[in-house]
Amino acid sequence: SIVVTGATGHLGRHVVEQLLEQVPAEQITAVVRDEQKAAGFAARGVKLAIADYNAPETFDDVFAAGDRVLLISGNEFDKGRPAQHQVVIDAAKAAGVALLAYTSAPGSLTAALADDHRATEEALLASGLPYTLLRNGWYFENYTENLAPVLEHSAVVQAAGDGRVSAASRADYAAAAVAVLTGEGHENQTYELGGDEAFGFAEYAAELSRQTGKEIVYTPVSAEAFTGILTGAGLPGRLATTLAGVDASIEKGELVISSGDLSRLTGRPTTPLTEAVTAALKS
Ligand code: NDP
Repeated sequence: SIVVTGATGHLGRHVVEQLLEQVPAEQITAVVRDEQKAAGFAARGVKLAIADYNAPETFDDVFAAGDRVLLISGNEFDKGRPAQHQVVIDAAKAAGVALLAYTSAPGSLTAALADDHRATEEALLASGLPYTLLRNGWYFENYTENLAPVLEHSAVVQAAGDGRVSAASRADYAAAAVAVLTGEGHENQTYELGGDEAFGFAEYAAELSRQTGKEIVYTPVSAEAFTGILTGAGLPGRLATTLAGVDASIEKGELVISSGDLSRLTGRPTTPLTEAVTAALKS
């Protein structure tokens, strides 16, 4: 089987949808915490496994020898993600899966956000399992799903200076994961995944201006000011600090990915900025 954890998350849903276009539903297992959230998958014949990274025993019967597994990194930053991911690695190892692919972060990223990913990569390599590191770059959706304040204030506010980012859409990263899960020759490979064209926030603001007909400008701010703006908008302090850390990394060029791995794996160009903005303004 092809087994996908985090299947009811944003990325996981794209992965399962794209898998359904390529393999029979009964060959796909969606690992989910909440069966209700996966009812649509079950109705289409996808097998469900109910398991939680915080409860190792729930993973006892999830994997079988020969499975190809995608471990989608968790989002519970305060619960110790490396230990959570270790639960999946241990269960996959015990079952003897054929491949364990993991959604990691770019090798160039030094922001604190990358720490959990580096720890998980080490654990995966130490397991001796055949692995694929899908080092996902930044999602367009991190920006385009947060357009309300941008449109309200006619300003893109970030703490990234003139830094550029090779963003791609979740659907693009999902396609890369599907290529690895359904293809051959990806054992023990590390892919640095990002959009074909990097852009800066001035360019992003210009594209928003062009498509909305409003004048939207990029307002670069300091990390401190950015953290204050985010906490003022209701984000928890730790998350705000993390996001400011990511912007500092963008300013240093750490989220520019020039490997070409993403379009090479998917066999098509990544989603361009114009298209990502158009899709966001429509929704
Ligand atoms: P989501 O937050 O939409 O999905 C996270 C998934 O992890 C959900 O399916 C969630 O389950 C599952 N999950 C979380 N904790 C547990 C747990 N204890 N046991 C089992 N499952 C769990 O994120 P995305 O799909 O958008 O992104 C996937 C991952 O990529 C994120 O979790 C994060 O690690 C990382 N990320 C990357 C970004 C980037 O720009 N590259 C940006 C943001 C995140 P449930 O559906 O039940 O909630």
